[in-house]
Amino acid sequence: MSSSTAPSKTPTSSAAPSPQPKKLKQNLDFSTLCIRQDLLDTIAKMGYEKPTPIQAAMIPLAIKRMDLVGQARTGTGKTAAFALPILQNIDFEKTILPQALVLVPTRELAVQVAGEFEKIAVSSTARIVLLYGGKPMRPQLNQLQRGASVIVGTPGRVLDHLQRRSFDPSGLRCVVLDEADRMLDIGFRPDIERILRQCPPRRQTLMLSATLPGPIKEIAKRYMYKPKLVNFSGTDISADTIDQYYLRVNSDMKFEVLMKLLEREQPTQAIIFCRTRLRTEWLYRKLLKAGVLQGVGTIHGDLSQSSRDQMMGGFRNGTINYLVATDVVGRGIDVSNISHIINFDIPEMSDDYVHRVGRT
Ligand code: AMP
Repeated sequence: MSSSTAPSKTPTSSAAPSPQPKKLKQNLDFSTLCIRQDLLDTIAKMGYEKPTPIQAAMIPLAIKRMDLVGQARTGTGKTAAFALPILQNIDFEKTILPQALVLVPTRELAVQVAGEFEKIAVSSTARIVLLYGGKPMRPQLNQLQRGASVIVGTPGRVLDHLQRRSFDPSGLRCVVLDEADRMLDIGFRPDIERILRQCPPRRQTLMLSATLPGPIKEIAKRYMYKPKLVNFSGTDISADTIDQYYLRVNSDMKFEVLMKLLEREQPTQAIIFCRTRLRTEWLYRKLLKAGVLQGVGTIHGDLSQSSRDQMMGGFRNGTINYLVATDVVGRGIDVSNISHIINFDIPEMSDDYVHRVGRT
């Protein structure tokens, strides 16, 4: 289990952060990154004072339309690192077709990424269209017909639209694969490759990924042009600001220990990760039944889209304090009040651990 103050501290939290990002953070300013004045004004209004390291490194190169592989977690400001260059490079004179396509692994992340685009595009006429599964096609088709400059979506639904020819990919100048490692883990690789094959060959491709396993490198090699690696993860990609702890517990005692831990820690907001959908639902019901905690929610792939939206909405606005989740939906969640991540079940893959604890 990982949390901010708890019993036994692990020896795993000792890795030193890479020194490069700190230097960039101190010396750089958004105005040095070749960003247009209207966008500079918008981000200033959003309260972004200094670029994060990944933004400082990626934005000038992405504006020059280079292909980039950015190794970065959620919470590092990676969305603005690709949204700003994309919005800057949209050419309203040349085409009315969609000019950028951003693929993300989950519906929740799609909503979050599109939201960031909307905020940054507030002073422009760029239209952002969100395409994800579990929602009827018609409203999405209507939106596409009204015109889209940037499409943000999950691979399955985007491919579905491409197959129905509901949008023309020939005007795409930039494709982003966000949380690429996660998309591959979920099994989106064939869909992603089909989509990429339908995009114009002369385009920019940006790939964001917390980890760079073999299949990610293969995709980069096959579908990107001389990609430059922008790495801000260091060797240990768990943030150095996170305290990590573990407890040795017999499995039949886990629930009791969890209750004690929550009582003692009093998290502002916590995500409690379980390994499977069934187990997530089981723990959620058990917590509800215990009736001690205020604001318990759950999110996993067996829930309907509207329940998932409702749960995420509740977690964002603070009516839900304890979110029991599977890894699929756990990744990419960016809620600023999360104080504790609890690994009720140990993740199957070590990368998942990094993604889970990166939510805090
Ligand atoms: P992301 O990693 O893109 O999910 O961003 C994490 C959070 O940081 C989001 O809430 C962003 O709105 C915020 N953010 C991104 N860039 C900056 C910045 N330069 N300064 C302050 N906040 C930022």
